[in-house]
Amino acid sequence: MLARATNQQNVQQPHSLSVAVVGGGAAGLAAALELRRAGHAPTVFEQLANIGGVWDYTEEVEDDPLGRGQRHVHGSMYAQLRTNLPREVMGFQSFPFDTAWRGSKDSRQFCEHAEVQRYLEAFAEEFQLLQHVRFSTTVQHVAPVDAAAANGSSGGSGSAPAEWLRWRVTSQPAADGQAAASSGSSSSSEVFDAVVVCNGHYSRPRLPQLPGQDVFPGVQMHSHNYRRPDGFVGQTVLLVGASSSGVDIAEELAAAGAKVILCARVWENPLTGEVVDAGSRTLASASSAAAAAAAEGKGGGSAGGVPAGAVAALPAGIRKAANLAELHADGSVTLEDGTRIADIDCIMYCTGYHYSFPFLDGIVSVEDNRVGPLYQHVFPPAAAPTLSFVGLPWKVVPFPQFELQSRWIAQVLAGRAQLPSEQEMEAHTAQFYASLEAAGVPTRYTHRMSGALQWEYDRWLAQQCGDAALPGFAWREALYNACGMSRKLHGAGYRDARLPAAAEAEAEAREEAAHL
Ligand code: FAD
Repeated sequence: MLARATNQQNVQQPHSLSVAVVGGGAAGLAAALELRRAGHAPTVFEQLANIGGVWDYTEEVEDDPLGRGQRHVHGSMYAQLRTNLPREVMGFQSFPFDTAWRGSKDSRQFCEHAEVQRYLEAFAEEFQLLQHVRFSTTVQHVAPVDAAAANGSSGGSGSAPAEWLRWRVTSQPAADGQAAASSGSSSSSEVFDAVVVCNGHYSRPRLPQLPGQDVFPGVQMHSHNYRRPDGFVGQTVLLVGASSSGVDIAEELAAAGAKVILCARVWENPLTGEVVDAGSRTLASASSAAAAAAAEGKGGGSAGGVPAGAVAALPAGIRKAANLAELHADGSVTLEDGTRIADIDCIMYCTGYHYSFPFLDGIVSVEDNRVGPLYQHVFPPAAAPTLSFVGLPWKVVPFPQFELQSRWIAQVLAGRAQLPSEQEMEAHTAQFYASLEAAGVPTRYTHRMSGALQWEYDRWLAQQCGDAALPGFAWREALYNACGMSRKLHGAGYRDARLPAAAEAEAEAREEAAHL
């Protein structure tokens, strides 16, 4: 149990705290800006030599293609990746993701990954955020300052309420600009009033355990270590998992001349999570079904709805299949529906990622991808308000949600917004977990916000910051839904089909930013 007396805050006197932010990706940058706007002093620790996190593309891959080795590479982007959301929807509220900023080079609505990196760099420049970033510095350990020794210890701003936990942050220069590996250099340790964790969760591969994995003679890898289709030409590649990355990579490989089998336990809608049975239809026939359903106004229909058949209009040569069940020493595999397929050259697991906080010793637990306990996905009740997390929810539009979570944290730390008591937050969190269980939602979906959930959550966050109406989010939701419909109609070509409401959305985004 952490030594913390109460969450009660003095709302009369805004506090100005020293805050360590772990990670300089989109979430860490948003946190730095919102913390500074609320009067705090952020220090962003970034293990890489640049900001941007996963958008800072690297050709480097790990020694172990399954991602189980010692040496870790943070990046998971592949060379040809284009965004799967329209740029207007993706952008921060404070800085529209149009093309008006200096350095923009790709004006497409679904742009290349390098354009997102340029945008994040322009955002950091616009708000002079780089001055807060300590590059090539890995946070190794975050621990509460011992309450008994707290009075005598130096560090922190001295402006936080005495009953709030303070934190000792131990960091070390990163080895070579890449993640995690120790350089052997000496570590240093500082005390901060608060810590905001923004370390991302698309970096540590999640792998299924299947019989025969240790005897299969072909290549096995995770999509985390995929960069380009070049080495796969003429090969038979079986991809496991048909969410965004699985579908994208299947398209790339097939277009480059690989024979592709795309396996999934259920066929999942990349935006809403809608599922249909795997079956053994080919993608082409599923495509026709989806297009016909869309034309009749059937099929999907929920926010951003893309029924699984909408991934159908993919290049010929991709076979849609049931999930992988077993691998064999002769290079064949068995699928869950009993089908046996011979001569597989490569199995690529597009099975997602783990949450991982190696620098937090037991302050939160990660069980089946539930980070908990966390009040509203942000505050661990026993360590609130001075420890918080930005960016855990998935199936969301991340950047504007990062801003809202960060604004809430910054306001709470300033004493301008109040949290419930520790007991109330614990009770609320327990109730939330019980409601998921009652609804049959697997633990690993605790932070998943498909459909309308994310917009409800965003509105709730805005209310905590005194912004009841959440100005400007209606157009985001509308454009997000239009994107879902477009995917339904255009299949793989959806990225090149201009969405009708885009011009209005851009204008609204600029107006919104001007009023912040
Ligand atoms: P990250 O970008 O991962 O940043 C975390 C940062 O923390 C990194 O820079 C890392 O080096 C640093 N860090 C981690 N641990 C430490 C430590 N101990 N010490 C110091 N620094 C540390 N989102 C969209 O909106 N649109 C898309 O089209 C889209 N496509 C995607 C495609 C792929 C393949 C992937 C993987 C993700 C995609 N995303 C997309 C989601 C993307 O992850 C988010 O947009 C967002 O960039 C996540 O930001 P983040 O700051 O939370 O995490």
